[in-house]
Amino acid sequence: MGTRRDFLKLTGLAGTSAMVPSVFSGIKKTTKPIVLSTWDHGVTANKVSWDILSKNGTALDAVEQGVRKVESNPKGTTVGIGGSPDRDGFVTLDACIMNHKNECGSVAFLQNIEHPISVARKVMEETQHVMLVGEGASQFAQEQGFKSKDLLTEESKKAWEKWLETSEYEPVVNIENHDTIASIALDAQGNLAGACTTSGMAYKMHGRVGDSPIIGAGLFVDNEVGAACGTGLGEAIIRTAGSTIIVEMMRNGISPQDACKAAVERIIEKHDDLTNVQVGYLAINKNGEYGGYSVYDGFTYAIRSDEENEYLSSEFKISQ
Ligand code: ASP
Repeated sequence: MGTRRDFLKLTGLAGTSAMVPSVFSGIKKTTKPIVLSTWDHGVTANKVSWDILSKNGTALDAVEQGVRKVESNPKGTTVGIGGSPDRDGFVTLDACIMNHKNECGSVAFLQNIEHPISVARKVMEETQHVMLVGEGASQFAQEQGFKSKDLLTEESKKAWEKWLETSEYEPVVNIENHDTIASIALDAQGNLAGACTTSGMAYKMHGRVGDSPIIGAGLFVDNEVGAACGTGLGEAIIRTAGSTIIVEMMRNGISPQDACKAAVERIIEKHDDLTNVQVGYLAINKNGEYGGYSVYDGFTYAIRSDEENEYLSSEFKISQ
């Protein structure tokens, strides 16, 4: 473990509304198994994942089950049920999953299915393909026994109707501190996996797909090296192949923390206007080193291992 400031154990804290992240700096390293998840709902996801990892379960099961818990929370306005709709009032979901054998599955623009992450896993395990979108993804989900469900809650409908009064599209991320859930894990066997699921940017254009279902953008895993995932303005992540470059930097010996930082710097370099370009990355390598970094302050994540059970503020480049 590196230097720590403002240390705050999560014990007794998870589930309370007043979660205050602590800030770490330096090289962060812990023992496997490990799971790392984005934002405050990462605490909820990690709890489920840890039940699996601590009993020698696989990283793949851990990340899938962890993010499913967040998909099922109707109060979360950025993932699964209760997710904010697009500008036309449709909740459209993006998700992907990747295992330690470079196998992956993804769904995009999927509607009326509570657990897009599990549909993505079925794409990985039951088809010859990596990605299914829209109607084809829904059809496949139904064939696989997923039930159709209306994901637009009364609250998210009301918020959308209020938004319609002005219909101003501002891709504001980070404000509600509660965005995409992305999880990466290293299990006791030393295998890595990752999962990423979201309803995307609130009030996006109908048909818009973000980084979260794009392998190499919102998520990338290479079992020889490490895993990385992202959250925030998907367009910025796709434009810079975010998670891929982080893994490739780790392949060249750069620490997860420095790799996340360099990927953020790449985004900054490639954008003339950084207004609302918030992106947060997480990464982990095979040695149990991990890190997180964001463009602006405000990005948080949760880490769980035998030694760590913490909710952290990431380091960042620009103070808002
Ligand atoms: N990355 C997601 C997207 O662009 C949104 C987010 O993480 O807040 O769809």
